[in-house]
Amino acid sequence: MSTPADEQPRIRRAALSLEDYVAGINAGDRSVLGRALTLVESTAERDRELAAALLSALMPLTGGSVRLGLTGTPGVGKSTFIETLGSNLVERGHKVAVLAIDPSSTVSGGSILGDKTRMPRLSTNPSAFIRPSPSIGTLGGIAARTREALLVCEAAGFDVVLVETVGVGQSETEVAAMTDTFLALMLPGAGDELQGIKRGLMELADVLAVNKADGDMKPAALRAARDLRIALRMLHSGDARWIPPVLTCSGLTGEGVDDVWNAVLEHRAMLKAEGLLEKKRREQSEQWMWRLVDMGLRDAMRRDPRVRDLLGTLRGEVADGSTSPVTAARRLLSAFGI
Ligand code: GDP
Repeated sequence: MSTPADEQPRIRRAALSLEDYVAGINAGDRSVLGRALTLVESTAERDRELAAALLSALMPLTGGSVRLGLTGTPGVGKSTFIETLGSNLVERGHKVAVLAIDPSSTVSGGSILGDKTRMPRLSTNPSAFIRPSPSIGTLGGIAARTREALLVCEAAGFDVVLVETVGVGQSETEVAAMTDTFLALMLPGAGDELQGIKRGLMELADVLAVNKADGDMKPAALRAARDLRIALRMLHSGDARWIPPVLTCSGLTGEGVDDVWNAVLEHRAMLKAEGLLEKKRREQSEQWMWRLVDMGLRDAMRRDPRVRDLLGTLRGEVADGSTSPVTAARRLLSAFGI
């Protein structure tokens, strides 16, 4: 994936100190923000240390944004929707950051979610900031970097942070685990709603919107919304605090997009009124800490020479069935000293 043009080093730039980063972010300096995000996305050990220090320093400035997750299959109209919603929000005085978790980058280095040229209007707006998905690492690693980027954007004064992904594998769970409200965009086409149920999206989504409800597709969109409502009512018990609303909208014409945003705000108001927003964020932070511990342990284990030696033989034995995975795992852990 290409580096955004405004962050490409034209000349070799002097390294920033922790104080430079904090001051620049506080002052809303976009070039410092871009460099801070590059720092938190870096996997180099040296950068990780500075990134951790930066995040600690920024922590008191975080927490103030509407953290909105957004998912939908490729082609559902996410970019168009974000372009419209983001522009509406910016017009009303909000500062909007758009981050992405692109699962395709971990497999092929390719990108389903593309870069910021997908949102030409928003990407040139001074009150918006669009950051493509980190492109190197495991999905867990990418999600961790994106969570850090979210905090940096909050500290820089963005009061809406949108984290976008596609409905592939675990990426939706990752996004739901770092946002307050999770919005699913659906297609009017037949059968899409049922795929959603199968994938467990129904359990993750707080608000659903059937997109492309315009022109010839409007009747199909209304039908799909009705079917989804029925499916959701079956899934959620009558006394549930929140039954996800199903709306229709068109990112292209803008119709219904504000209603979707209002539903997001209603969900947020419900969370706050019930004391659930704080609880959710506390749980997410703890979950994230454990994820980082898990990833750190895994990395350390894989780098350990004793483990590496043993792994060479055990891999083949597990593959041909001569050693059970259970025994192999125990031996690897004990070689590591656990
Ligand atoms: P993404 O892959 O989910 O980001 O989808 P895009 O926003 O790139 O849109 C995919 C295609 O659908 C493009 O050709 C868009 O012009 C079209 N599209 C997006 N939103 C709408 C919409 O609300 N209505 C209609 N009719 N077409 C749309």
